[in-house]
Amino acid sequence: MDTIRKLQEKIYQGGFLTKGEIMPLTEMPLEPLCQAADEIRAHFCGNRFDLCTIINGKCGRCSEDCKYCAQSAHYTAACGASYPLLSTEKIVEQAKHNAAQGVLRYSIVTSGRRLSEAEVERVCESIRAVRREAGIEVCVSFGLLGEADFVKIREAGASRVHCNLESSERYFPLVCTTHTYADKIETLLAAKRAGLEVCSGGIMGLGETMEDRIDMALTARALGVKSVPVNVLNPIPGTPYEKNPALTNDEVRRIVAVFRFIIPDASIRLAGGRGLLGDKGEKCFAGGANAAISGDMLTTAGITVETDMALLREMGYTVVKG
Ligand code: SF4
Repeated sequence: MDTIRKLQEKIYQGGFLTKGEIMPLTEMPLEPLCQAADEIRAHFCGNRFDLCTIINGKCGRCSEDCKYCAQSAHYTAACGASYPLLSTEKIVEQAKHNAAQGVLRYSIVTSGRRLSEAEVERVCESIRAVRREAGIEVCVSFGLLGEADFVKIREAGASRVHCNLESSERYFPLVCTTHTYADKIETLLAAKRAGLEVCSGGIMGLGETMEDRIDMALTARALGVKSVPVNVLNPIPGTPYEKNPALTNDEVRRIVAVFRFIIPDASIRLAGGRGLLGDKGEKCFAGGANAAISGDMLTTAGITVETDMALLREMGYTVVKG
């Protein structure tokens, strides 16, 4: 308990915890840890909750071999219908639907290593239309783009780039061999140079250790990341991780709480796999998490915006952009 309080004090005084200070949190009693994480969240972020939605703007046929992913062409998993980049009309229609439900952020996500130049031009047109017609904030997840493309994307009206680190630098080569951790970091840095915010977290349950998760969050902190998606692996049949054991709700609660200690003022965001948690994330929202992806996920069903809005209101949160 004393350790938790001491670390909390250091954080309140503007200090950043070292890895040596963070590691003991993996062994601390869960309830006081989550309680302290909730207090840190309230101290730095108040009751603001950042709820976003995603649209699968291009699906499947991916050249990459990320072992968790149903969209990879390397495995037998089928993610439903594969399709090329959606039309502006479809992307805007979904944006308007989300804006009408009170969602403030809308992310266009595409499969593949990176969008082509022609696809970037097309999607910039969609971003402009979304900003003009739905007024919702736009985030993008278009793979390993460079600075010049990110400048175009910012000028079209997007504000944030998503590119997950997925795991630690040590563990990532066991998850994916077709691109590197350095590729991901360069993508995040290029987005920042282009004047965009960056959102980056990972997937829990790939076989990584708690230390890997902490290393990932420390890398995100060093990169100035202020939105950290915490995905829980949904072991999809036909992917190499199909037999991975599911994480328990308490394991996810600890991850979320520890991440809050690492980046005290970030949006710690429950993302894919939230539906696998018995309480749909409620305990995490009372233990350090203050953001979520709502609605359907990329290859799995999520939780509806309406359900999330009702829960968040009940918990005393106000939905605002984080
Ligand atoms: S995570 Fe992205 S890059 Fe990796 S296989 Fe899936 S769609 Fe392709």
